[in-house]
Amino acid sequence: MALTGRGLCLCPEAQLRNERRRSVMTAAPLLTLNNGVTLPALGFGVFQSAPEETAAAVEAALAIGYRHVDTAAVYSNEREVGEGIRRSGIDRSEVFIETKVWISDYGYEQTLHAFDKSARKLGVDQIDLLILHQPLPSAFDKTVASYQALEKLLAAGKVRAIGVSNFTTDHLKALLERTEIVPAVNQIELHPYFVQRDMQQAHAEHGILTQAWSPIGGVTFYPDILGLAPENRTSTLTEPVIRGIADAYGKTAAQVMLAWHLQQGRSAIPKSVKPERIAENFNVFDIVLGAGDMAALDALDKGVRNGPDPEAVTLEIGNWPIPEA
Ligand code: NDP
Repeated sequence: MALTGRGLCLCPEAQLRNERRRSVMTAAPLLTLNNGVTLPALGFGVFQSAPEETAAAVEAALAIGYRHVDTAAVYSNEREVGEGIRRSGIDRSEVFIETKVWISDYGYEQTLHAFDKSARKLGVDQIDLLILHQPLPSAFDKTVASYQALEKLLAAGKVRAIGVSNFTTDHLKALLERTEIVPAVNQIELHPYFVQRDMQQAHAEHGILTQAWSPIGGVTFYPDILGLAPENRTSTLTEPVIRGIADAYGKTAAQVMLAWHLQQGRSAIPKSVKPERIAENFNVFDIVLGAGDMAALDALDKGVRNGPDPEAVTLEIGNWPIPEA
């Protein structure tokens, strides 16, 4: 028996539950990348977080226990991510910072300079994980040159790990043939409606960590432009199968999806600017989904991408310059 500050007696079981609750809210499990660097499996995404909301969201996330933030040069909020980290009072060394080089900065020298721009905005000397945001299939030489610049930054100790995003198996194969260092990570669209088993398999074969973007299905790209059929425009958050599993565990749909990622060894980077959801999305480490529930989630795959097709991304449609400061 113990006396709490409010004069209530707690039985050992209740104490244990409280301890567990505290501990589940303070540490995400770690994953080890192919170069030995570790990162918290659950990170905090900031795509579409307005600059004026980002610092507060990052600060709230760090207060809750997140220690991994995923941003990108093209999100225009690296400065606010850095500000949120500094405002949190948490030592820089305890926060894993991941950012991405945008395609307008592809090319060897340009990508070396892109590091300088991102580091300056974030207010750091070293970036933990720097990845190429997209392959440029129509300018793959440029994509390779950019990746070689990442290799150079890694050798110089300016980044701790390097990787890619939105690469298909063909892009990965072409990259591996022409470069030295296997990417540590490929960050791809992945949620119960778009599971990308072939990509996960290819990653496993090469020792590349699968990192899920839009991990709770928040993807809000251009359904009209992509010509998505009505049945492919539904939200995973209201999916009856996921809601049913969530009810059975006393959890939310978002929490069940995040547990599904973690249980299959993926990194996931949910985004929110709402403190209650930021907390909800981090309160998942005590969930152990049964095999039948995992299989039911896997079976929801529609095989239909909701985000941009990596094959279709070109410099012409994404030539947004990244400012110096
Ligand atoms: P998510 O799957 O993380 O979903 C985010 C959306 O869901 C937001 O609209 C958010 O709104 C809402 N939301 C968050 N938590 C909850 C909850 N518990 N219940 C209900 N709704 C919730 O999608 P994202 O597309 O943001 O992807 C996550 C991250 O992945 C990005 O922030 C970015 O870092 C990365 N990303 C990378 C891409 C790439 O090309 N490499 C592409 C897209 C994303 P609100 O903020 O109002 O809570």
